[in-house]
Amino acid sequence: MKQQILIIGAGFGGVWSALSAARLLDKHDRNDVEITVLAPQAELRIRPRFYEPNVHNMKAPLNDLFDAVGVKFVQGSAETIDEKNKLVSFTKAAGSQGKLSYDRLVLAAGSHLMRPPVEGMLEHAFDVDQIESAARLEAHLHALKNLPASAARNTVVVAGGGFTGIETATEMPARLRAVLGDNADIRVIVVDRAPQIAASLGDGIRPSIVEASEHLGIEWILDTSVTSVDAGGVTLADGQRIESSTVIWTVGFRASPLTEQVQGTRDHQGRLHVDQNLKVRGHADVFATGDVAYAATDDLGNFAAMSCQHAIALGRYAGNNVAAELLGVEPIAYSQPKYVTCLDLGAWGAVFTEGWDRQVKLVKQEAKELKTQINTVWIYPPAADRAAALAAADPLIPVA
Ligand SMILES: Cc1cc2nc3c(=O)[nH]c(=O)nc-3n(C[C@H](O)[C@H](O)[C@H](O)COP(=O)(O)OP(=O)(O)OC[C@H]3O[C@@H](n4cnc5c(N)ncnc54)[C@H](O)[C@@H]3O)c2cc1C
Repeated sequence: MKQQILIIGAGFGGVWSALSAARLLDKHDRNDVEITVLAPQAELRIRPRFYEPNVHNMKAPLNDLFDAVGVKFVQGSAETIDEKNKLVSFTKAAGSQGKLSYDRLVLAAGSHLMRPPVEGMLEHAFDVDQIESAARLEAHLHALKNLPASAARNTVVVAGGGFTGIETATEMPARLRAVLGDNADIRVIVVDRAPQIAASLGDGIRPSIVEASEHLGIEWILDTSVTSVDAGGVTLADGQRIESSTVIWTVGFRASPLTEQVQGTRDHQGRLHVDQNLKVRGHADVFATGDVAYAATDDLGNFAAMSCQHAIALGRYAGNNVAAELLGVEPIAYSQPKYVTCLDLGAWGAVFTEGWDRQVKLVKQEAKELKTQINTVWIYPPAADRAAALAAADPLIPVA
């Protein structure tokens, strides 16, 4: 009977874990280990692009790729992890139940946006977190043209001015004008509780964000937060009322609830602490990768962010190391000392920084070309060509 590697999730962490595990089996000419990916869809959903229009296209099929490298795909959503019996129970697409056994488990179930208990938030706010919710926003934006002109129709409020909020807001003028016409009197407003623009991203990158906001006419309301949302707008903590038919919540990501079924220390986002080989601390058979893993990227005190850049590398190491353990070969300690940021700033361009202190290296069109390359090529899965796909999964290939 073959030994079983079970990977939960087909995002960046899960796909690259599967490819990397397959690469190591191939390298050692072993066919006594089976790799299975369990996820609701056999597609890599390109979350970093969900603030863009045409969101239904932001996915890449995985069946042919998995077939090419010998990875089995099971469609379903994991419900329970039974570590004692090494079993994962899942719900199939049609609603029936299934079980999968494992010798080693890789948890790669990603993260999701948390909506705070603010009045009206669940019913009235949009988000760009998952393909379905981003598609709802897109349909809503298209439907605005059927409404009579009003301040509310023409105003988008983006709640939260972090990475996702800024990318969403700076794309909005073009998206609104595409629907309402070039001469529409539109407003895009970012509401953030920090006293400064882009406080969480630092002083180096801020001037580019300020310049882009001014160029695009984006307003920032700082030092306050959203206290309620309704069909006609938002009310802020300082009492201001903004009429808006489109409120987009962008703050607060949390690791998959499956992490709660694995005993262990978690960070404030619910991510499981992992060791240098990406095994969950205190567990013999469970690895975590991507947005569910709290992993040191270097020995200087930096930790992986919830980012694609980290999820791809974490995936390659986790897959390599889970297979290495079953094959009895040495694992490769996760290390990703280089950190970059490429922030899309709509029609102004983009800004590219290097280092955890975000030193600006490229701005405007040059950075935009890089962002386009990242978003349309680099983060997509490799073609369904066995040799090329396995070669691309080497954990020692730097991501950035
Ligand atoms: C709008 C937006 C913009 C972003 N921009 C950037 C950016 O510019 N740069 C960057 O580096 N990062 C960016 N990110 C973050 C990046 O998308 C995530 O960090 C990345 O997707 C994490 O990869 P992952 O594989 O851990 O999780 P995900 O990509 O979330 O994949 C999780 C997978 O697990 C599956 N899954 C979930 N629950 C279950 C279950 N119970 N059973 C089975 N399968 C399950 C999902 O279906 C999916 O296949 C952005 C995110 C958003 C939302």
